[in-house]
Amino acid sequence: MAWFKRARKPITATKQKASRVPEGLWVKCSGCAQVIYNKDLGTNLNVCPKCGYHFRIGALERLRLLFDEGSFTEYDKGLVSTDPLKFADTKPYRTRLESSIEATGLKDAVVTASGRIEGIETSVAAMEYAFIGGSMGVVVGEKITRAIERGIDRRWPVVIVCSSGGARMMEGALSLMQMAKVSGALARLAQERLAYIAVLTDPTTGGVTASFAMLGDLIIAEPKALIGFAGPRVIEQTIKQKLPEGFQRAEFLLEKGMVDLVVDRREMKSAIGKALRFMGSAPSEPASTAPGTSIVPEATPQL
Ligand SMILES: [Zn+2]
Repeated sequence: MAWFKRARKPITATKQKASRVPEGLWVKCSGCAQVIYNKDLGTNLNVCPKCGYHFRIGALERLRLLFDEGSFTEYDKGLVSTDPLKFADTKPYRTRLESSIEATGLKDAVVTASGRIEGIETSVAAMEYAFIGGSMGVVVGEKITRAIERGIDRRWPVVIVCSSGGARMMEGALSLMQMAKVSGALARLAQERLAYIAVLTDPTTGGVTASFAMLGDLIIAEPKALIGFAGPRVIEQTIKQKLPEGFQRAEFLLEKGMVDLVVDRREMKSAIGKALRFMGSAPSEPASTAPGTSIVPEATPQL
């Protein structure tokens, strides 16, 4: 119980002076604290031109920059969670879903698509962190599994771009089952001797790290990406030791052998193309007849 009460309104500076710069024209870099012109950032794939800091990008933006000419075929666009547990924490899960759907324009935290990467027809799943922290629920698990199975059916390699806070706890044990489901599909892909590349972006944590993020034939990370299972604070409290500098960052994990490559986003497409060729994929003939909705989204700078 407080022993005094503030009678008047708090005097904290909550009212900010109206900025004279139109919103979104300039962005402050979290890496070097320099101010960058938003357009420059957009043309540089959302990598700081001064220090190379990698800003987070959305799933659609990711697919646009991976596929040739930015064009791809999206699948299972309409899958949406049924809220099987009728879960509510501070607010109902259904409300969270609805607001995320409205904010991102996506139905869940992953977009699955196929298209060509340097001429090689590939099945790609890209996760969307803006959708409830990129959490893996039933829909994410199902869409990724289908993307892998599509790879098996059509003899395509698979790429999964991870960006996730872990399993979606609002779906309880059902979300945890997705780890086994996706891992099972990846095992079948491996039996078929088809390549799987995991691309780990900031952040890749929890159940995603504990399953498909670490199962790649090749595991590529973006510079300085946070990659781990539990957060550093939880680990420090558990082992009662101070963690080393750069712990759980891509470069640290490369040194320890947890990831195979750290690749700049601007080099990512050619690195994946090169790896796919190395693992036996060949550029396909033009005129593929894949079902699904063909979309060529226009480029919009996204932060
Ligand atoms: Zn910077």
